[in-house]
Amino acid sequence: MESLVERAARDLVNSKHAIVLTGAGISTESGIADFRGPSGIWTRDPDAEKRAYQIYGKFLANPKEYWEERLTGPSLLGDLTKVEPNPGHYALAELESMGILKCLITQNIDNLHRRAGSRNVLEYHGNACRLRCSSCNARFDLEEYDLEKLREEGKLPPLCQKCGGTIKSDVVHFQEPIPSDVAHQSLEEAWKCDLMLICGTSAVVYPFANLPRTARDRKIEKEKSESNLYVVEKIPAVTIVEVNADATPLTYEQISDYLIQRRTGEVLPKIAERVRKARE
Ligand SMILES: [Zn+2]
Repeated sequence: MESLVERAARDLVNSKHAIVLTGAGISTESGIADFRGPSGIWTRDPDAEKRAYQIYGKFLANPKEYWEERLTGPSLLGDLTKVEPNPGHYALAELESMGILKCLITQNIDNLHRRAGSRNVLEYHGNACRLRCSSCNARFDLEEYDLEKLREEGKLPPLCQKCGGTIKSDVVHFQEPIPSDVAHQSLEEAWKCDLMLICGTSAVVYPFANLPRTARDRKIEKEKSESNLYVVEKIPAVTIVEVNADATPLTYEQISDYLIQRRTGEVLPKIAERVRKARE
């Protein structure tokens, strides 16, 4: 394992535009249940998954009722203020502050990357601690709206402070398209990066799963001399490094160049430490 950690640190130091993709695996180490794992939220309660498929339709048809249910029903992930970022989150924030990681794209909705200090974060499936305007995509912190008061006064749904559009949770519900700004910026990053670090996700949920595959398909042309002839060969434009507790379809399909098969909370701090030393 040590040599792969060394290799990942070296690849990061040598990169020009490194980005990271994260998924549920990095948050389960903070005690947040995943959705589809053996003790995942949907695995334990298939009816909750069926209900989740109705939520976006409810918002479109009756946003007032959507909000009434959200404010009175149980929260799927529990109280997010009671969980803390773990060493994996902090290591990624440190790699960004060192100027190594340029962008973090996460499937997680738990806000833990921002709380750990990551700044350039694209929340592909939204953020449970934020609200989003369904018309103009403006994001608001939960504290910017007194939702309980609006409910008591019969003024739900909340309306956008910028355009007057209807506000929903920033979380992307089943059936709801990925917000166009995040989808666009994420794809741009996948086109731009020369190193992609993938942490705690098997990247099987589309369209997120397109990001590593898009990066893998990119080739650059490189000249090489072969018995006094110059030939142009096409080589992969991106190095893809996986940190996952188990091998994933990215491993089997050889989308990743190599897998560091350990918990993210264990490996990422080691990588960050080596990068820090290499730059001293
Ligand atoms: Zn708006």
